[in-house]
Amino acid sequence: MDREQVDLIVQNGSVLIMDEAFTVVEDGAVAVAGQYIAEVGPGADVRKKYQSRDILDAEGGIVLPGLVNAHTHAAMTLFRGIADDLPLMEWLNDYIFPAETHLNPEVVYDGTLLACAEMIRSGTTCFCDMYLFEQEVARAARDAGLRAVVGEVLYDFPSPNYGPPQEGLRYSEQLIRDWKGHPIIYPAVEPHAVYTCSPRYLEQIMELAVRHSVPYIIHLAESPGELAQVREKFGKTPVEHMEELGLLSDLVIADHSVCLSPGEIEIYRRRKVKVAHCPESNMKLASGVAPVPHMLRAGVVVGLGTDGCASNNNLDLFQEMDTAAKLHKVHTMDPTVMDAASVLSMATRGGAAALGLAEEIGSLEPGKRADLIVVETRSPHLTPMYNPYSHLVYAARGADVRHTVINGRVAMRDRHLLTLDEEAVMARAREIAAEIRKTVTIKT
Ligand SMILES: [Zn+2]
Repeated sequence: MDREQVDLIVQNGSVLIMDEAFTVVEDGAVAVAGQYIAEVGPGADVRKKYQSRDILDAEGGIVLPGLVNAHTHAAMTLFRGIADDLPLMEWLNDYIFPAETHLNPEVVYDGTLLACAEMIRSGTTCFCDMYLFEQEVARAARDAGLRAVVGEVLYDFPSPNYGPPQEGLRYSEQLIRDWKGHPIIYPAVEPHAVYTCSPRYLEQIMELAVRHSVPYIIHLAESPGELAQVREKFGKTPVEHMEELGLLSDLVIADHSVCLSPGEIEIYRRRKVKVAHCPESNMKLASGVAPVPHMLRAGVVVGLGTDGCASNNNLDLFQEMDTAAKLHKVHTMDPTVMDAASVLSMATRGGAAALGLAEEIGSLEPGKRADLIVVETRSPHLTPMYNPYSHLVYAARGADVRHTVINGRVAMRDRHLLTLDEEAVMARAREIAAEIRKTVTIKT
């Protein structure tokens, strides 16, 4: 019998499907046809049925869905280390917002490419971005071949990109029109926060989200400082404020969601609000610990994000998984919460569901988009291997990723980036940093 021709076979690894049953196929293989997964199964079966000129050999390593970074500000790679060890509001107002006034389309494009290089290297195949000049983020992600949800950050003061707030609505609508239907770029609307957007503006942004059925992504209940500010201004918590405005629905992705009461978790559950959990950023800015085990028990969909590079300071979701697992154990004084498989699930299918992409990505199942990574395990720190979930969450790091495939395209092969010129991207970042140093105070 003739074997069916496919475009890529990834073989000779432990395949973690990341389905609900947490199926692992030992000595498994994945057949990829075009942008999609054709089949996943035992290597012998897949090879009997399919042939491909292109083969990726996992060499006994782990094959798993690409990681999903549910919240970041990609171009902030350019501000990595510019101001550390500060409270959120001071960090934002005294360093980050002033630095951002110097951004332009070209700088955001180049900073995003730098982020894409870091993400592809560390096994992230999809990221959700909130930033300025988001058209450039979309272009950079497309050019790097990295799947991305993109939305222009909207707030009630003049933006260095679009100018006055009303222009932000127009810019967002254009972004939606330009990218809706693209195979790897998904537009969204992204009000910055309830303390930076008026109630009317938040509503107008939601009208746009509903009209185009795109995600509505907002930093919400991130820190006690935000809570105090919103309470003083509106006499409510940020979540109560959104709920009373009628703005909580399944379109909403609430980034951070650190300061939530049990009643507010119940509101999230009822309204199908989804969460992007960013533990390292919350720790670094001393924002607090999001009640994630409680949210998961309540059935709230939670994805994992790094937040921007100025508050993390990297985009490595392997580190983020390790942190997430351990933070909640010590916070609840219960070592059984956030087990490795659950945390990996949060970084794959959870992130996909949070971004509204559960049908497309997040697990290795036929018909889904072919976003997958191969983690090499032939290293002292990953030998021997009893449990792949444990290794991925507690022992591996981003640098252990050997191959990255996004939408059926090999973006990294044997640790060589194929979709962008990494040396040129880094050289450009160093040039931009030299300009930034001239105008922005660097905290020492
Ligand atoms: Zn953020």
